[in-house]
Amino acid sequence: MAGSVHEAKLVESHDIMKIFAAEGVEFLLSCDGKVPVSSCKGKAIFLFFSANWCRPCRTLVPLLVELYDTLNKKGNSIEIIFISFDHDESGFDQHFKSTPWLAVPFDANLHRRLINRYQVHRLPSFLPLCSDGITIEEDMIGCIEDYGAEAFPFTNKRLQELKSIDQRKREEANLEELLAHEARNFLISRDDRKVPISELAGKTIGLYFCADWSPPSSAFSAQLTDVYNNLNTGKDHCFEVVLISTDRDLREFNVNRSSMPWLAVPYMDRTRHDVCRIFDIKGIPALVLIGPEGKVISMNGKFVISSYGAEAFPFTDARIRDLEAALRKEGEALPQEVEDVKHEHILKLDMAKAYVCDFCRKQGKFWAFSCYVCDYDLHPSCVEKVSKVESL
Ligand SMILES: [Zn+2]
Ligand SMILES: [Zn+2]
Repeated sequence: MAGSVHEAKLVESHDIMKIFAAEGVEFLLSCDGKVPVSSCKGKAIFLFFSANWCRPCRTLVPLLVELYDTLNKKGNSIEIIFISFDHDESGFDQHFKSTPWLAVPFDANLHRRLINRYQVHRLPSFLPLCSDGITIEEDMIGCIEDYGAEAFPFTNKRLQELKSIDQRKREEANLEELLAHEARNFLISRDDRKVPISELAGKTIGLYFCADWSPPSSAFSAQLTDVYNNLNTGKDHCFEVVLISTDRDLREFNVNRSSMPWLAVPYMDRTRHDVCRIFDIKGIPALVLIGPEGKVISMNGKFVISSYGAEAFPFTDARIRDLEAALRKEGEALPQEVEDVKHEHILKLDMAKAYVCDFCRKQGKFWAFSCYVCDYDLHPSCVEKVSKVESL
């Protein structure tokens, strides 16, 4: 019963013409002046609740303008009607002058009634009145940010389709499909060469998500560069990395990639954004490893690289299992503690991700003999045991 009342309300709310008539709205505004409400007839209508003082609203406007232009160019007849949350007419004018769509003329009371009618609780809000079943609680803004004009007509059916396309792309990991864009079938190198994506065939690929503004990215980039150079010495170039930048602008992107020996997806098209979404990248740095036969080997390449370095190549589960087994075996052959002639305390066997040996000053990894009293570490091979006779 409650459901049918709600549905009836929803159907009624979708008939914007009737609502405008009931509210006494005689015309809408366009950038060229007044237009009759009837000019919306036959179009897919979207209500856009927004305000000039709201930063997320201002951020969304360029995305919506692109969506609006793309859909109208494609021949989908759509109209966006702006309903203002602005405090006064000057805020409204300021906001509206940069947009190509229509607006309900500024009238704070009328706007409040419309906001209540559509139960708008947050800014910005974007309501498709043509939708088959998306309710206003759903994150329409997120959907636009994720898929842009592709999401049209913003129905649940279309969203499910898009999600299953993403899933297929993730599972098939076809590089051409993931990394090319319309007329572009190349990546760019540090020295601005265009490298065809087809040249990646048969290699192990790391999709590297990072940004110049992120210190953890810089730290991991250094490790990845070591592994990259280590694996690609000689003529056998078996490991390629592709930068998927999340830099804030083109300048940062250029600084970021200038320090990297590998390839990059150009900054300007949607591909970077799409690949982030397809692999559900929530934080940077992140590295997705794809095998030569085009299957994802690891979603957590950062862990694989930072734990095992180039030793882990070709990064398969089997290779990681072998490495771990060899490490266990190595540890089992070592004593739990030793007395070393160079140090006054007992040293205990320890597992460390990275350390510097206090004898030879070189980097160490995994097994170490460490002092629990002071900060002192030795490579197992740098230990010089106190002989039994001396210690007596
Ligand atoms: Zn050492
Ligand atoms: Zn000590």
